[in-house]
Amino acid sequence: MLTTAQIIRELRGTKINGYADGLMQGSRRDIEAVARTALGHMAQFTQNRFVEANQDIIKCVVWCATLDTRTSPPCRARDGKQYTPVEHKPIGHSFQWGGGPGGYHWRCRSHQTTVLKSNKELGIDVPDVVMKDGTRASMDGQLPADVTYSQWIKKQSAARQDEVLGATRAQMMREGKITPEQLYGSKGEYLTLDQLKSKTGGMLGSNNASMKSEELAIRAADLTEPKLSAVQREARAYVVENGRKTGHEYGVAIADGKIVDRFTSGMPNALKVPKFNGYPNGVIDLHHNHPVGDSLSAQDFATLLATPSIGSVAVHGQSGFFTQAAKVGVGMSSESAYLVAASTRSKAKALVAEARESGVISDAQSNSGLWPVVMASLLENDGLIRYTINSETVMSIARKVINHGK
Ligand SMILES: [Zn+2]
Repeated sequence: MLTTAQIIRELRGTKINGYADGLMQGSRRDIEAVARTALGHMAQFTQNRFVEANQDIIKCVVWCATLDTRTSPPCRARDGKQYTPVEHKPIGHSFQWGGGPGGYHWRCRSHQTTVLKSNKELGIDVPDVVMKDGTRASMDGQLPADVTYSQWIKKQSAARQDEVLGATRAQMMREGKITPEQLYGSKGEYLTLDQLKSKTGGMLGSNNASMKSEELAIRAADLTEPKLSAVQREARAYVVENGRKTGHEYGVAIADGKIVDRFTSGMPNALKVPKFNGYPNGVIDLHHNHPVGDSLSAQDFATLLATPSIGSVAVHGQSGFFTQAAKVGVGMSSESAYLVAASTRSKAKALVAEARESGVISDAQSNSGLWPVVMASLLENDGLIRYTINSETVMSIARKVINHGK
């Protein structure tokens, strides 16, 4: 196999021939990158074959990034993370493999190591030899082998942290507002500063990169108790308690003051609502939860407008946020309902984007699940629903958006 230096020579040409015999004209830096990337792919290819051939004794593969200031965000995030040997499924985390170490991106310098199964796991009755002096290279010399990039960066000087993470992220890390691991979304994507700010200001344990209406209202401390009957409170308790347990959406249907159905789709962001055929028009009062903490969705409006038996749809957040839409009139065909929902959603999103660009609302406010509230107001203005929301703060931001668009 060629060394990096040999490949660079092939690509770049030789000095004695004035570089005219090179395959590629370009700066040394570019050529080096091509060579390194190609070598990385080759090493990765070879190693993948090795892993495939020996998968019976390999427990997992581990992503190894380079410990220096030029390491890319995706590789920093994945450093030390384990994956299954052949299919490269994340183990104990959710950061995707992508092209893998060495192939994830242009100039990727990461490599992979393999962790062998223990003798016990292989069914061999011999104690494992414990390696005590495992080390790994860093820009400052050898470090213990189990030091990950996240641990490494935390111990670096403020100047070096600023260089790697940028001043804002580095400052947030030093102030303990965020750990190096939290700089990434659930799939290992590097979060923007806006996403980070809403994440750190958000509720504890929330995985949502952006703050939703419920959080906005909680921070403003203006959530009011909605006017609910005893049976509606029972419905709320059912959907919220189950939602807290599983993170999924639940629904309860009330008709004539009684609970007539309870259901779930077992998903965090969707609910399949029954048609309730056989019930008179508008008699069903539907309650469900939104674990994510936003107002009624476009789908919720479409369901309300297209299902004759449903008269109102209420959404409960997990911490007291409440929005409800009551149908005005008899509704419409499902084709029309979906058309109305889709076009009103687009209009609401465009209005939010415009207001943000003009500085009428902040980035955080525009990300806060605001468009569903704006959408509700637009439908109300069109005379299709009556809308209730229990946070004056959230409502006033939505009003600003609509007034700006007029
Ligand atoms: Zn919903």
